[in-house]
Amino acid sequence: MRVVFGAGSVKSLSTELERLGFTRGLVLCSPEQKSTGEQIAAALGTRAAGVLAEARMHVPAEVAARARDRAAALGADCCVAVGGGSAIGLGKAVALEHGLPLVAVPTTYAGSEMTPVWGLTENGRKRTGRDPRVLPVSVLYDPELTLSLPTGMSVTSGLNAIAHAVEALYAPDASPIVSLMAEEATRALAEALPSIVHTADDLTARSQAQYGAWLCGSCLGATTMSLHHKLCHSLGGALNLPHAPTHAVVLPHVLAYNQPGAPQTVAALSRALGGTSDPARHLWELARQLGAPRSLHELGMTETDIPQIVHEVLTNPYSNPVEVSEQGLTRLLKAAWCGQPPH
Ligand code: NAD
Repeated sequence: MRVVFGAGSVKSLSTELERLGFTRGLVLCSPEQKSTGEQIAAALGTRAAGVLAEARMHVPAEVAARARDRAAALGADCCVAVGGGSAIGLGKAVALEHGLPLVAVPTTYAGSEMTPVWGLTENGRKRTGRDPRVLPVSVLYDPELTLSLPTGMSVTSGLNAIAHAVEALYAPDASPIVSLMAEEATRALAEALPSIVHTADDLTARSQAQYGAWLCGSCLGATTMSLHHKLCHSLGGALNLPHAPTHAVVLPHVLAYNQPGAPQTVAALSRALGGTSDPARHLWELARQLGAPRSLHELGMTETDIPQIVHEVLTNPYSNPVEVSEQGLTRLLKAAWCGQPPH
């Protein structure tokens, strides 16, 4: 994949399409970012086929079908997805089902643009899978497009990204190069997020956060995720909890659970986070400083939901550095639910 990076780089989008041999791109975005979608279409000039501002969480199949029909009607030869994981997920679904190449312009730190993972929701059921065909042919990171991301969402999205790096460090298919990327990504984001909270339009911090997010997305695409992602997937699917805030709350708790079985991860995160001996506690404190939510309770979960989630997570086996027991997971979720320190 080709990755273009830099403030103002969105202005070169038309040249980027030309370089790739595309003549007409259908811009995909969420309704909330329609004006950004129109800005992208303006940057594309005559290479813009139109704007479809219908991207939603979990990629409904009917929206993907509409995007395909619109692309065909307008004679588009690629999609240009601008936005977070939802807009990029829509572009991936169109690439998967209808073969239209995707150019991604990410505006959050979720990292989907760097992974071959797709999702599609049909009749209330979300299917997911990995397929290299959904990888964008080009990704354009312009930090100026993240200036509008509200501070709260910037923080939770950044912590969501750090979760990819953390789980890449102890992944069953971890590799030295991905671990270096994960460590560097954690350092970059942990340094950038406080600056963004202090000054939301600090372009240097925004650039650094997006650099970290690029690395985190690459880590996510290159490795198999463990308990943290599995748990957040269950919480999002069964209880409809919001994606990035759920990751932000859960991460310190899963890390505390896994730290005893992952000494190299602890060492890497310690280097990335200024020498702390307890990265889980450090991330929990960081979340407090950044004003992030710290309990599942405040995200709308009730305590009586805990057994259902424990059951769901234990039903499908997956790799994790520490064995996941019913008792351990219940304790973890109780602490995350009421916002206790991770232990
Ligand atoms: P999102 O894409 O749902 O965006 C949330 C909201 O923020 C939307 O309304 C969006 O328009 C708005 N927004 C985004 N960028 C903005 C900006 N710069 N300024 C103002 N508003 C902005 O949220 P997300 O957290 O980026 O993505 C979550 C989704 O992505 C989930 O469905 C998740 O499963 C998926 N995801 C997939 C992968 C993968 O590898 N397939 C990876 C990460 C996330």
